[in-house]
Amino acid sequence: MNTQILPIDDNSLRLAKQIIESGGVVGFPTETVYGLGANAFDDSAVKRIFEIKGRPNDNPLIVHVHKDYDLSQLVYDVPEYAKLLAKAFLPGPLTMVYKSKGVVSPAVSCGLDTLAVRIPSHSGAQRFLKEVNLPIAAPSANLSKHVSPVTARHVYEDLKGRIEYILDGGKCSGGIESTVLDCTGEVPCVLRSGLVTKEMIAQVVGECDEYVLKDGERVRSPGMKYKHYSPRCETKLFYYEDRFKAFSLCKEKLNQGVKAYLLCDSQTAEQTDIKNVLCLGRTESEIAANLYDKLREGEEIAQLIIGIAPKKQDGVMVGVMNRMSKACK
Ligand code: AMP
Ligand code: MG
Repeated sequence: MNTQILPIDDNSLRLAKQIIESGGVVGFPTETVYGLGANAFDDSAVKRIFEIKGRPNDNPLIVHVHKDYDLSQLVYDVPEYAKLLAKAFLPGPLTMVYKSKGVVSPAVSCGLDTLAVRIPSHSGAQRFLKEVNLPIAAPSANLSKHVSPVTARHVYEDLKGRIEYILDGGKCSGGIESTVLDCTGEVPCVLRSGLVTKEMIAQVVGECDEYVLKDGERVRSPGMKYKHYSPRCETKLFYYEDRFKAFSLCKEKLNQGVKAYLLCDSQTAEQTDIKNVLCLGRTESEIAANLYDKLREGEEIAQLIIGIAPKKQDGVMVGVMNRMSKACK
């Protein structure tokens, strides 16, 4: 199968619609990462997503809809706090988990009685979702366990020969996957952190819990138990406090002829004379937006990536650290 990267226009959207309606899958941009989408009503199309990615079949998918889609077709028991959060943050990088009406393929939620729904803000994603006017089940458009894609080229590198079309909407501005929020309880609960932070949610609705997996407990967001975001080279991660140890290790490796690179923010990079730096940028949003791009660049040029955690550990950095610690262990 020949894989084509197409700019988003009337022509490519028509092709994408045809593929989706005939049970195929399409790569498409969102403001977080690229998605691999299929018609959520079509059981065999949804199963193809799992096959193409090599995704474990107990790791559920998020359903993506356009901003005018009537959600009451898919879910029920939407609490008042969820309506307030939708008003505050949607369209945007927030996925909300509700009680499912069970109308989409059971493969989407891997048999759970809940459904994760997201309304992306990316204009290309909205155009694609409007064109198909269907709920689109989509995980990130990478091979399972690999670093998530933030450009059409990244999708191509992982999925060439496995899918027909990738809609190219440029580099994703957000850079880490959406916040996943359980909206089935009295109080919203963050299952996966992202750009919409626990603090931002609490500011709108008063309180917000955060799910922490306890030993022996059944995981509530199945994706949490899998290895993720791994670049194809050796990695090591240091706390910010241990940055000088990271610099020493990098110099030692470089002296041994190992292609070692630091992965850190600008402020940290300025504290060393090491030139091999995959620099994440200065602000929280730059760091999130560049993380996967730099991990993918790193695996092309480095034998060893030495990650250094940012100094700041709250807000958006919770989500960044969650990914960095899974990528660099
Ligand atoms: P991905 O789009 O590849 O980042 O994967 C989707 C994420 O959403 C995974 O971490 C899943 O565990 C999570 N997810 C999807 N559906 C549900 C659901 N019904 N309940 C809890 N988590 C979900
Ligand atoms: Mg993923």
